[in-house]
Amino acid sequence: MEQNKDLNQFDIPLAKRTQLNDSNSILKKKLLILSPFFFLLFSLFALRLIKNIEIGSLNNLNFQAQINNDQRILGHLPYAEIPKEKLVLIEPNIEVHIDMRDSLLKMRDEAKKDGIYLVFLSGYRSINLQNEIFYSLKSFRNQTAAQRARVSAPPGYSEHSTGFAIDFGDATQRETDFETEFENTDAFKWLIKNAAKFHFKLSFAKDNRYIDYEPWHWRYEGSIEALKIFEISNRKS
Ligand SMILES: [Zn+2]
Repeated sequence: MEQNKDLNQFDIPLAKRTQLNDSNSILKKKLLILSPFFFLLFSLFALRLIKNIEIGSLNNLNFQAQINNDQRILGHLPYAEIPKEKLVLIEPNIEVHIDMRDSLLKMRDEAKKDGIYLVFLSGYRSINLQNEIFYSLKSFRNQTAAQRARVSAPPGYSEHSTGFAIDFGDATQRETDFETEFENTDAFKWLIKNAAKFHFKLSFAKDNRYIDYEPWHWRYEGSIEALKIFEISNRKS
């Protein structure tokens, strides 16, 4: 008992002293108790910040997509003019991108072996020439720009200025040149069956929502440069 009494006598002042003198420790205790709430608050803040950044970058992507869409004029995407040094003359009045020449000539030879006679109607066209075609034909045919754009690209917006586009005719049915009826020729049927082997693709198929069906107009996608040029068109057509 005496020992306990001694202990109490010793303990109580010590406890009092601790409580009275160390007000800092009370604050620390409170902080310790509150720390989970602070942590939660901080986490929520951090999450909100991350979410905002994510939404921000999504908005940026949407904005980017809008820019890409806005690049289209009357349904046509913009195309830069090929540098002159990359152009080669493959026959009178027909110039094409040098990367496409071999494949194009090989395709014509292979077609000939099958009794199909492909004619090259139009290859590279300068932006100036496209300008003449677009505006002169428009006034000649009494069409608005939007009507004309269904069948011809505005200057600066034609695949022909890249040197990677080519219009085909059938040597045995020239009356179908630049006409939808070209799709009934043997040449067109042969192209549908074989052109992909030579890296050619129909640019404006029947399901294109912007531009009228052009069975005669094909483009070359057999090089990285060509694929880059037609990337946006292949994503959204
Ligand atoms: Zn064309």
